[in-house]
Amino acid sequence: MSAPWTRRSILKAAGAVALMPLLPNASSAVPVKLAGPTMGTRYRVHMENPPKGLRVAELKHVIERVLKTTDRLMSTHRSDSELSGFNASESVSWQRVSAPTARVVETALHVQRASGGAFNPATAPMVDHWGFGAVRKVYRPPGAVPDGILDSVRQAAIELEPGRMRKGHAHAALDLNAIAKGDALDQVVSVLEREGVHDYLVEIGGEIVARGPGPRGDGWRAGIEHPRGGVHCVVELQGQAVATSGDYVDFYMHNGRRYSHIIDPRAGRPVEQELGLVSVIADTAMEADAWATALLVMGLEEGVSFAENHAMAALFLRRDGSGYRELTTPAFERFRVTYT
Ligand code: ADP
Ligand code: MG
Repeated sequence: MSAPWTRRSILKAAGAVALMPLLPNASSAVPVKLAGPTMGTRYRVHMENPPKGLRVAELKHVIERVLKTTDRLMSTHRSDSELSGFNASESVSWQRVSAPTARVVETALHVQRASGGAFNPATAPMVDHWGFGAVRKVYRPPGAVPDGILDSVRQAAIELEPGRMRKGHAHAALDLNAIAKGDALDQVVSVLEREGVHDYLVEIGGEIVARGPGPRGDGWRAGIEHPRGGVHCVVELQGQAVATSGDYVDFYMHNGRRYSHIIDPRAGRPVEQELGLVSVIADTAMEADAWATALLVMGLEEGVSFAENHAMAALFLRRDGSGYRELTTPAFERFRVTYT
């Protein structure tokens, strides 16, 4: 098994790796590979059988512009982003919102409703409180969230209308980190499709979309990483996206308890449960990204039954002694392959 594409190196991420065969490529056209830094991680694009006359330098430029747009609009790590402006404002009046941010917020609010509040884009004040916001000051638990923070999340009441957005609480703030990377990936895929590229694998920080026959002519494979490193299992993608969320990716330990960057907004504290990793395969990377986080917050019982009831393709790894035990939905099994 060869895995020449390493995972995100700047920030840690749960995710998948592209598995490349050692065999030479099946077609005569030379594959094209692009890569670069983005959003504290890296993006990679691998194209097989690219259309004749594809202007690679221009394509790279367009892809990087798309990625920069997400960062410029939705980053909570930049104080000059559109989202940081919305968060800093204490106004509860309508504020202008760009189309890309609105698109991501709309899906985030949909997943919030559908997940019964397990996923919540207005969790930002809690993320900050537990030490996982843009300013990292906290490496030991600060104690329960104060009522003011609970209120700002519970009464956030984010509303969206064409071109504008508003909050129902002066201190409400949005965090789109669990979903924006997925949307950026979908946007890159749209660029490729528009340029006539239909055989590709795109990865951003451990999230992958792949389509087409791939290097060997029999499909693209992605290895879902194990929390302890290495590949846990391999899936074959035909236009779908795989995204992973893990409570081991970013956390601190205190008195034997794990404090993770994934917050249960219903409880007002980091998730604390037996579930360590969730991977979701969906038609879009934005959905896969959001639902991987949502199912992780739901926890093992609620998450597994929700995924089964909604025919979602999901993999769950629960802690079991010193290792992990796997649970999957039938829809997930349709993507699993034995990699040789
Ligand atoms: P990663 O981006 O680390 O690969 P996720 O997609 O699961 O993993 O996103 C985690 C990030 O989402 C956290 O760092 C935090 O900013 C934000 N977040 C934490 N809890 C929630 C939640 N319940 N709903 C929505 N976003 C959350
Ligand atoms: Mg996510």
